[in-house]
This record gives sequence, structure tokens and C-alpha cells, in this order.
Amino acid sequence: MAKKPQLTTSAGSPVASNETSQTAGERGPVLLQDYQLVEKLAHQNRERIPERVVHAKGWGAQGTFTVTHDITKYTCADIFSEIGKKTEVLSRWSTVAGESGAADTERDVRGFSLKFYTEQGNWDMVGNNTPIFFIRDGFKFPDFIRTQKRHPKTNLRSPEAMFDFWAAHPECVHQVTILMSDRGIPVSPMHMNGYGSHTFSMWNKDGERYWVKFHFKTQQGIKNYTNETSENIIGSTREKYQEELYSAIDEGNFPKWTMYIQAMPEEEAGKQDYNPFDLTKVWPHDDYPLIEVGELEMNRNPDNYFQMIENAAFSPSNVVPGIGFSPDKMLQARIFSYADAHRYRLGTHYEALPANAPKNAKVNHYHKDGAMRFFTNDFGNPDAYYEPNQHEGPVADEGVKEPPLRIDGDADRYYQADEDIDYVQPRALYNLFSDDQKQRLYKNYAAAMGPCSDSVKARWYAVLEKVHPDYAAGVKNAVESLDTDVNTVPITENTPIEDN
Ligand code: NDP
Repeated sequence: MAKKPQLTTSAGSPVASNETSQTAGERGPVLLQDYQLVEKLAHQNRERIPERVVHAKGWGAQGTFTVTHDITKYTCADIFSEIGKKTEVLSRWSTVAGESGAADTERDVRGFSLKFYTEQGNWDMVGNNTPIFFIRDGFKFPDFIRTQKRHPKTNLRSPEAMFDFWAAHPECVHQVTILMSDRGIPVSPMHMNGYGSHTFSMWNKDGERYWVKFHFKTQQGIKNYTNETSENIIGSTREKYQEELYSAIDEGNFPKWTMYIQAMPEEEAGKQDYNPFDLTKVWPHDDYPLIEVGELEMNRNPDNYFQMIENAAFSPSNVVPGIGFSPDKMLQARIFSYADAHRYRLGTHYEALPANAPKNAKVNHYHKDGAMRFFTNDFGNPDAYYEPNQHEGPVADEGVKEPPLRIDGDADRYYQADEDIDYVQPRALYNLFSDDQKQRLYKNYAAAMGPCSDSVKARWYAVLEKVHPDYAAGVKNAVESLDTDVNTVPITENTPIEDN
């Protein structure tokens, strides 16, 4: 048998005992000089970092992205430079509202984040399992999230707050429709699609810009749970996704997704009935068909969950030459707030951590000190610590410059005054649903809206009425027949087992 490695202190010194405290006599007291005891307890006290305010509960894996189709017409990004090119990827999927111990199979939107370790640095695709979002302006984000989290007095989630906010923002109805539909509780991260959701941009070697949407379609098929099944599952395990994802990868059943883009020539933006930079809208497939790009395969469980998944810091600000932003207001807000959340959660130099450090590109920057400054700027010359300098320090490369973005001075350029515009796409989605899907949609609403006040219910029915009268009527009927039709027994009605 191989000799076991020697246990050491965190300073590397051999440890004589890891079993008992050092005491003055046989029965105590414990000595303050027992530094290993102090160190052990102090370390345990510091094992948690602040959990993410949103997307706290997550599951992740490592894998590979392979280009299968040529999209160099749209982008000069190195990751897409040739068919067959492979790039290492880190993924993290998550629920949005629940805390880090929340049950996996709750009704919620799922985060779908990918970090591509490209040769031009890391590209983060920080999306969701829905092609849209509740709101279109980051200014509303803190208020929106407040309604999804716990009430300050009751410390409970508040359906009243959720539907009060949604009713005040009719653009939410598109995303709420998906949330209350079958897709609101995926069977696992492997059984859902991922979408970049925002409009991003790409530019090619000739400097032509396209607006793009990213789609990752599951090859496992979309599969979802009903409320009832999910409640049963939560009763037996809160970690369903972690168990299934880990086992699938461990057993060699690697989940896969096919990547597509939708591409819109730069000058076409503004010619649609809808704002193509509005995060509450999709681009209809008929107008902008899916263009196949490649395959994503997640094939490795991280050796240390905390190191690779809890420490993972995804941010839409991480783009690479050939991929860029768009005027999407929510995207612009996230470019700031995601990186800022990681600075707070992980520390100033969070991008030097193993999960976040580029694996296939050298990092050369002049940022200096701060938490986690455990790396050097190894330019080969310690005098090159400012810019510009007379030494051989790194310099910017104009060759990777993005083509200029034409802004014509009209701040409302993409604004549409059409009052119906927020209802057109939810209506198209509602019309896609089969009768059975509609019945489940109504029941899911009833379970969610049951505790709401009559005034909030009435305001939400008015929003649904504008999408489709049948939609409003179906939900209203389900809510009104709640006690007989819907399995929403309050916890106080469960019969306790009493002590004899
Ligand atoms: P299409 O008929 O071409 O596309 C409909 C799309 O809806 C499908 O491709 C599928 O997208 C998605 N879908 C199907 N069933 C459901 C469901 N139960 N819940 C959520 N999404 C579902 O029409 P359009 O492109 O004109 O879109 C019509 C509506 O479909 C949109 O208003 C939007 O609500 C929804 N949708 C559109 C998407 C798009 O990018 N165009 C993407 C997703 C939804 P997928 O294959 O991506 O699962």
C-alpha cells in the first residue's frame, strides 16, 4: 500500500496529533498555545462566503464545446474560427429566488451560465432557461428581486408582492406565462434549453456587425415536473438535480446541447414591430431562423464543488473580440452588476481563482493590490507596473477594436408606442399551448395566486385579459375553484402525529 502523505499545518509543518486538544492536565483545561485547535475552529467559522443574492442554489459541471458549423461570416471570435475546434467550458445552472439550501425542483426560472475558456480570454454566456426575462430595464431589477425574496416582517416568500409587482409591469406577462407553464419546473438542468436571452452582437473580420441571440437546445429533450410530482420529490429529496446531474456525468452519460444563433444585420434593428433589444421579447424564428453552430457536452464533475462552482463568477461583461454587447438596457445594467457582485462576494481579484482564471489565454493587466493578490504580473520586468511605461510592459492592440456603434442621437430610437406590443408574444405562446398545457397553466397559477388579495388578483386578470380572454377566464376559474381542484393544502391543515 502506498505510504499516506504526511498531515501538515497550513504553513506546511508536520502535525503530531489530529485527534485531541492540548491540555494542561489529563482532563483539561485546554491551552491557548494549541494553535492547531484554534486554526481548525477558526477555519470552520470561515467556510462560508456570502451566498449569491440571486441564483444562490446551483449545480455545475465541466465540459467541452465543439464547433460543428462555420459562422465566420458573422464573427471573427477565435472560438468559432474553424469546424472541429474544441474549447473547455465550465457551466453552472441555478434557481433564481431560493437560498443556497433551497429545494432543487421548485417552480422558478433557471440560470444557465457557461464560461468558455477561449484562446482570446474567457467568454461568459450568462443566460437562463427562458429566451426572455420579466423586465427590460435594470433600473427595476432590485425592486423585482425584492418581490421574489422574503418579506421583511414575515420572513416568508410573498405571492402578494410578486403579483403586485407583475401586475404593475405588464411586460412581465411573457415570462410569467413561461414560469407558470410546464417549463416552470424542469426535471433537471439536463432537460432544459439555455438562452443568452439578451441581444448581443458579433462582428466579422470585415468589421460588419450583426445583432445575435444565443440558443442552447437540450439533446436530452425538454422534460418537466407537475407541481404535484415536484412536491412529492421535495418531500423525499431536496437535491434531485445535484444527484441526477452528478450521477449522469459520473456514469459517462454526458448531457449535450446544440448551440444555435439568430443573426440580424446591424441595419435591420428598428425595422421590426418590436424592439429587438427588449429583453421581454424573442425574435420570432420565422423572421430570424436558428443557425447551427456547435455542440456542448458536459463531461466532468468538478473535484471540488466549492472551488469550481461556488467560486465560479460568471459575468456578461466577459466578452472576447468578435462578440460584443448591444443597446439592451438590462444587459447594460448586468455588465456592471454581475462583476460587482463577484467583487463583493469573492474579493477584488476573484478572476484569478481557478474557476475563473483563463486557461488558454495569458492574463496581462496593471490592476494592483487587494484581496487575493496571490499572483504576479510576470511581464519579466518588475519596473513595468504602470502604463504607458518605457519597459516591455503589455500594450493595447488596436486590431481587436470593435466596429463603431452608430448612435443617431434619438434616445427613444427603438421605443414602440404600440400599447399591444407587450401582449403579442405572450399571446403567440399561449396559442402554442395544447388544451392540456393550458389546463396545467391555469392550475399552476391557482397554486401560486391562491394567497393573493382580491385586488391583486383582479389586476393580474386584467393583464391576462389583454393577452387572451380565454387565458384570463381559465386562470380566474382555476383560482376560484382552488379548494376543490388544486393541491394547495396549507401546512397547518396537515395532521400532526401527537406524542402519547
Ligand atoms: P415558433 O413556432 O417558431 O417557435 C415557438 C417556440 O416556442 C418553439 O420553437 C419552442 O422554442 C418554444 N416553445 C414551445 N413550447 C413551449 C412551451 N410550452 N413553453 C415555452 N416555450 C415553448 O414561433 P415564434 O418564434 O414566433 O415564437 C412564438 C412564441 O414562442 C414566442 O412569442 C415565445 O413566447 C415563444 N418562444 C420563442 C422562441 C424564439 O426564440 N423565437 C424561443 C422560445 C419560446 P425552443 O425550441 O427554443 O424551446
